[in-house]
Amino acid sequence: MTNVKQIGFIGLGIMGKPMVRNLLKAGYAVTVHDSREDASNELAADSAVPAGSPCEVARRSELVITMLPDSPQVSQVVAGKDGILEGAQKEATVMDMSTIAPATARELADLCRPKGVDFLDAPVSGGESGAIAATLSIMVGGKAEAFDKCLPILRTLGKNVVHMGASGAGQSAKLCNQVIASLNLLAMSEGLMLATKSGLEMEKLLSVVSAGAAGSWMLSNLGPKILQGDLEPGFKVRLLQKDLRLALAAAEDLKLPLPGAALVHQLYRSVEAAGKGEKGMQALVTAIETLSGSSLTGTRSA
Ligand code: NAD
Repeated sequence: MTNVKQIGFIGLGIMGKPMVRNLLKAGYAVTVHDSREDASNELAADSAVPAGSPCEVARRSELVITMLPDSPQVSQVVAGKDGILEGAQKEATVMDMSTIAPATARELADLCRPKGVDFLDAPVSGGESGAIAATLSIMVGGKAEAFDKCLPILRTLGKNVVHMGASGAGQSAKLCNQVIASLNLLAMSEGLMLATKSGLEMEKLLSVVSAGAAGSWMLSNLGPKILQGDLEPGFKVRLLQKDLRLALAAAEDLKLPLPGAALVHQLYRSVEAAGKGEKGMQALVTAIETLSGSSLTGTRSA
């Protein structure tokens, strides 16, 4: 598998597209599929080969990567009609890099095993910018041998690649990541609102706080966007809500209170109710704006 040349990639959205481009740049032959035909055609211009179904992708690939919205789409694409398992080569590997339920990752690994196919869960963190720059953090669950075989390919997509343990462990790690990330978003939104209400110069505030103990990926990457009034995704509110639902369900199973994550989930519900589910996750700030009756987005001077 270290000699894998033929890779299949299914799910060519905000994350999938730049990831495919990085695989092509590294010299891999990539067969692509998305339910939106225009997405596959766009990558054909970069010399990827479009295929009509996940099954057709699998026939042409030693490793098939999926980057899809949620558990139902991954289950359908892997194990449904015309899915990957219908066309999978002997000793192929399926690597799901979407964020889905850990239990679904374990179920899919169980379905793949009798067919001689390895399944890895390998969700990522680092956003669209990390996908473009190939600097993603990648947390992997599944057999150590399958991880070792895929490591060179994972290193063309990300900088920090960690084998977390058995099937599902990558997804469990990603849910922890999302709890931390979403609470960072709330912290940033409240801090920026306090700054603007205090009459501070927002550029100066961002610069000094980003360099101190309150610095974060959110503040550096999304703080400037908020001040520019730019709420375009990046990472969609709808998908972060899916992740928070998965994290809260995992906590429910463990009888674990996650009061902060529950609060952010409810605040995002108000963002969705205001019709902003397809906006970027920085739209959390609009919930704080509504609560405070003050505006923060678009306050940047230049
Ligand atoms: P996206 O909505 O931009 O892309 C998803 C793609 O999957 C779309 O092109 C869609 O047409 C395609 N698709 C949906 N169902 C399909 C099916 N049945 N068959 C074939 N194609 C199908 O989403 P994204 O932002 O690229 O996120 C993808 C995954 O990565 C999600 O699980 C998300 O939670 C995770 N993720 C996203 C980010 C981010 O910053 N965007 C960061 C880390 C992880």
